[in-house]
Amino acid sequence: MANTPPESKNSRLIIAIDGPAGAGKSTVASQLASRLGIPYLDTGAMYRAVGLLAMQDGLEPPFDEGAATRVLELMERHRIEVEAADGGTKIIVDGHDVGEEIRSPECSLMASAVSALADVREALVPLQRELGMRDGGVMEGRDIGTVVFPDAGLKVFLTASVDERARRRLGDLRERDVDTSLEEVREQQQQRDLQDTSRAESPLQVARGSVVVDTTGLTLDQVVERLLEEVARIR
Ligand code: C5P
Repeated sequence: MANTPPESKNSRLIIAIDGPAGAGKSTVASQLASRLGIPYLDTGAMYRAVGLLAMQDGLEPPFDEGAATRVLELMERHRIEVEAADGGTKIIVDGHDVGEEIRSPECSLMASAVSALADVREALVPLQRELGMRDGGVMEGRDIGTVVFPDAGLKVFLTASVDERARRRLGDLRERDVDTSLEEVREQQQQRDLQDTSRAESPLQVARGSVVVDTTGLTLDQVVERLLEEVARIR
């Protein structure tokens, strides 16, 4: 097997990475994918795109009964495209790259609200499965190991302390010139965690058979190396 080209060796390997907001999933998943030469799919960006449409349409959580129908109509009326791009997932809505807009704190909360709607998940999960089955890759989200790919080759649950997660998220937001405070970030993160873990549809849980990695105090490289060891074990 020494001469097996990396492409065929890696073909359709799926690595599921789940965990709460700010645990470092996106950075770790994107680095891991690039080290392995496989695609990276940020499924949260898909829920964020739907959240953006809902925001632009003036919807506000908590949603009333009609909200699910309205969000579904928005998804039908607009075109959301997903592309694996260098180091990230490109999300295009009606031909416009919305990569920046979907990262605002308001859009984070809206993404969490729309992702609790069963109809939204029913529309997005098949697309995620299709992308994963076509190319394999590192897929990151909240329900990859529990629902989207419960048979993934490797399932990882990344976590970190509340404070560390808030600090990391604040750093990300400040880099994008978002004016916010540690306290505000921590509060929004806790609200999102509560919504994501307590919802009826695909709540955030540790998938059976997951490797749980607490990234508190670990560098990005340490986490990636740790996961590469796990990948080596399943090959
Ligand atoms: O991962 P990210 O923080 O970008 O995700 C935004 C929101 O989308 C999450 O708070 C969660 O509510 C939702 N999400 C989800 N299932 C996924 C990925 C994200 O419900 N697979």
